Amino acid sequence: MTHKNFKNIDKVTYGRGSFSQLAQTVEPLRNENNKYFVYVIDNYFKGKPLSNQLQNKTEDLVYFIDVDPYEPTTQQIDQLRDEILSKKGLPSGVIGIGGGSIMDIAKALSLMLTNEGSSTLYQGLNLIKKPGIYHLGVPTTSGTGAEVSMTAVLTGPEKKLGLKCDWTVFNQVILDPELIASVPKDWWFYTGMDTYIHCIESHNGIRNNAFSLAYGDQALHLCREVFLNDKAGQTPENDDKLMVASLMGGLSLTYSEVGVCHALSYGLSKIHGTRHCFANCIIFQHLKDIYPEGVDEFNQMIKKHRIELPQNLSKEWNEDVLTQMATVSYNLPFMWNHAFGDKYREIATMDYIKDLFRRL
Ligand code: NAD
Ligand code: ZN
Repeated sequence: MTHKNFKNIDKVTYGRGSFSQLAQTVEPLRNENNKYFVYVIDNYFKGKPLSNQLQNKTEDLVYFIDVDPYEPTTQQIDQLRDEILSKKGLPSGVIGIGGGSIMDIAKALSLMLTNEGSSTLYQGLNLIKKPGIYHLGVPTTSGTGAEVSMTAVLTGPEKKLGLKCDWTVFNQVILDPELIASVPKDWWFYTGMDTYIHCIESHNGIRNNAFSLAYGDQALHLCREVFLNDKAGQTPENDDKLMVASLMGGLSLTYSEVGVCHALSYGLSKIHGTRHCFANCIIFQHLKDIYPEGVDEFNQMIKKHRIELPQNLSKEWNEDVLTQMATVSYNLPFMWNHAFGDKYREIATMDYIKDLFRRL
């Protein structure tokens, strides 16, 4: 087994109001390349107070990007890259402000500004040829761990797969818990549960180790405070915690691996376009035989926050659709291996995976 050698974020600012330090953080880099920054911002913030607090200069390019209903695509990144380069040449850096989708757009854009051709050429591990440019992430949702991960997930014509390499990782993140206060309750729950599921899956498999367990335990502890205990709920104190949980959950899975829920989630998302965190919740409720304690606790949290998840989805899926979904999931062997050990091929057959999808 090869031991992971993970590139972490270079610098992290954390705390309420830390977003106000954005300009001073990027100032020393303004002399790089063509001396301007590109902002990619979740369209949700257009016209909201945050759009007046960007601290951008007149030379900067500001893009508000609609991430609904589709997750970032290769075509979207290629187009944006071409437009930016033809307008003003190579920027000093990319600043992404938004949820997991915008984090991925900022990371992918930073890489594609220096790597020629379509981003479809680079979907996979270590296919990127040159370092990208400086990129800074300001997450406005907490849970996916996209702020810390070494991948920028893109949906292409053939595959939904990340641009994954050391250069993908942000140079800087600014974690300001005030920015997640406006996340709608259901989305707060789904994204938070993504972190919870990262930890449960990271823990329950052959690749866990003292390092992944330490981060995962702490993230789980924070998730319980945010979603389960007496003071659970969407409060400023809990937002402070959830933001840290997301980061630590991401680090836990990075040094271990995700498992069955994520393997299925990719199948559900690729074929039906279901968003990552929501897809995980739809699936996780049905995995009690695989993650008994995790699913029990998850169900308590569902009950406490009166979250209603869709049921009986598989009624609409014929054999062909199930095969398509199962094929996507089957082709993530490292997740099945982590969850089921060396005999995973005997357990996680196409038929078994289809049966798991039939539970939904
Ligand atoms: P998202 O970024 O797609 O945003 C979900 C919704 O929340 C959007 O409507 C958005 O406009 C809105 N929103 C964002 N911030 C808000 C705020 N502060 N207040 C109100 N609304 C807000 O959702 P997400 O769940 O954060 O991210 C999912 C994406 O992350 C998917 O594209 C998935 O592929 C990706 N992802 C990436 C990684 C990774 O490691 N790179 C891991 C998991 C998921
Ligand atoms: Zn996830």
